[in-house]
Amino acid sequence: MSTYNTAELRRQNRSRVFQYIFASQTPVTKQDIAHSLSLSLPTVGQNLKELQECGLLETQGTFNSTGGRKPRAIGIAAGIRCAVGIMISVYHIHMVCIDLRANLLCQTSIICDFTDSDEYFHNMATELEHFLDENHIDRAHLLGVGVALPGIVDEDRNVVVLSRFVEIREFPVDRLTQYIPYPCFIENDANAGGIAEWWNHKDHENMVYLSVQRGVGGAVLLDGVRYMGHHHHSGEFGHMCIVPNGEKCLCGMHGCLEAYCSTARISTDLGITREEFFAGLEAGNPEYQKRWDKYLYHLAIGINNIRMVLDCNIVLGGVLVQFMEPYLRDLQARLCAINPFQCSSSYLKLSRYRSWSTCVGVALHFISEFIDSV
Ligand SMILES: [Zn+2]
Repeated sequence: MSTYNTAELRRQNRSRVFQYIFASQTPVTKQDIAHSLSLSLPTVGQNLKELQECGLLETQGTFNSTGGRKPRAIGIAAGIRCAVGIMISVYHIHMVCIDLRANLLCQTSIICDFTDSDEYFHNMATELEHFLDENHIDRAHLLGVGVALPGIVDEDRNVVVLSRFVEIREFPVDRLTQYIPYPCFIENDANAGGIAEWWNHKDHENMVYLSVQRGVGGAVLLDGVRYMGHHHHSGEFGHMCIVPNGEKCLCGMHGCLEAYCSTARISTDLGITREEFFAGLEAGNPEYQKRWDKYLYHLAIGINNIRMVLDCNIVLGGVLVQFMEPYLRDLQARLCAINPFQCSSSYLKLSRYRSWSTCVGVALHFISEFIDSV
């Protein structure tokens, strides 16, 4: 075998060992790895030594022994690398930092009105540096910074084609990130949220992620792969008509789900914040209760339509989800009432990262790239 082939084989083995440990959610033993990958114990041992020397693996205790030495529990040293995810919305900049296991290390929300100006982009970069300093994030460990925004992103041309919320059109991505001195990546917010949700659930799963915030959108995962559609428009649930000739939507049509379930209906329209709305709702404000009843009525129609078409689990995400826990049963009961085939609505779940899904998802771009590169 040539030197090249030997080196390539060693690299592949090292990568396989690392990927195997990464895919196992709990620590594994040397024997597990050797058996599962059909590699000899000395080969596995050598790879583990190299990966441990790079700081990528660590011993995480021992397993019980059936005789002899207790086997070492080997796991990923998750803190060795991290990535930041930023979400831009009309009035806020949200940031998270995650480790290799997609654990949320720290997060913050900054009130900052979006403006298409150098001042805004500079400010975003300054806030990022503050965030890193405050949380003692070592820049040498930072793989990159993902930025998600409510708009259509054309990755081939590196432009944000359109965002109705932050009012930009044909906007070069580089302009957005020009003051950030780390590798950057831009993604649509709803797609990013979906990616966070199905991270670690990639095996032949069908799932819909429904993002409800000022904009309503989502993403579809079929057989473990994201379904994009012919024009990359799949998952535009916000512009599904739920009331023919209904309320005018920002897209120009009438009766869209977004026209009824944008979070603006329970905040901006009333001149209050979402927090104030839900505080008032809990305190029994009759006007808010009436509005919330109408809101849930329309949200249930939208969710039920998605379920009717795709018959799979639906994960509710976006900024709404942080307030939804006390109302989930009510929403599920409404779903049962309008579904002729099923009386269970346990298919509807709340996002596990709550309102941080989008930030986590866009940061995962760098985690995924790193894992694949080992
Ligand atoms: Zn619309």
